[in-house]
Amino acid sequence: MEQINYEKLIPQEPITDVVAFARQHGEFENAYLIYRSERVYDPLNIGTVCSVKVTCSACGHTFYAEKVPAGGCRHSCAPASFGWKDEQMPNAVIDGDKTLCPNCCKEAKTVHIGSMRSYGGELIDDTWVTELSRLPIEGLADRLVLTEWCIRRCINKQGTVRYEIWPFTAWVVEEKKIVRLMGYMKNIGGRICLFGEWRQRKQFEDVYGSAKLIVPWDKSLLEGTTAENSKLDLYQTEKRGRELVSYLALWRRRPHVENLLVQGCGNLVRTWIK
Ligand SMILES: [Zn+2]
Repeated sequence: MEQINYEKLIPQEPITDVVAFARQHGEFENAYLIYRSERVYDPLNIGTVCSVKVTCSACGHTFYAEKVPAGGCRHSCAPASFGWKDEQMPNAVIDGDKTLCPNCCKEAKTVHIGSMRSYGGELIDDTWVTELSRLPIEGLADRLVLTEWCIRRCINKQGTVRYEIWPFTAWVVEEKKIVRLMGYMKNIGGRICLFGEWRQRKQFEDVYGSAKLIVPWDKSLLEGTTAENSKLDLYQTEKRGRELVSYLALWRRRPHVENLLVQGCGNLVRTWIK
């Protein structure tokens, strides 16, 4: 039988609100206080003074603070040429320090806009969410499909937050094997290049590892699919298994592993996977 190409058949975007799901589970909690130098009008001196403008990425609040040159914050090799005088801290804060936002009181990392250049001008944080679904194929059993999305939070110099969702890895369980689809590749430097689409690979290779977040699913999803007898639900819930792809691959090769789960030998299964 000819290999089915799943690139356009599997979900092209998440089925659920994965951004909300990730946030509900404590992702993207980290905040930034983004600062820059700005001249502000000072009525006492009848003129402008050089000040520091700070914006909180968590609440959007902007405030002005007294500018402190790097020598006053740190000695040599300071991460930025200046910081600001923080009323809550004994010393001035500078790029990389943590302090509290005076408005929302959230702990935040201070970032000078000059150091945002290396990320294409934005602060990037990534997390990963896995969804399970079934894919009907005419004349064949429905395929169980795992799709892993990379959720990327981008914060620009104005502190505006934006979320992006990228296809990361996808796995289609067939009768005899598991088909791998990738949404990224690693460049020579180890940097990840995202495609923005699924690309099917000839070889199975478990690059999935351990799931970060899995959208809850009901075991009835497995009924009548290629993974009907896999007991994936048992593996995930009772044994708190996160290596979903490793488990499915093991089960495809050694179908009796599901018996071990049923008999309560889940620890043995986990050891095998490791
Ligand atoms: Zn805030």
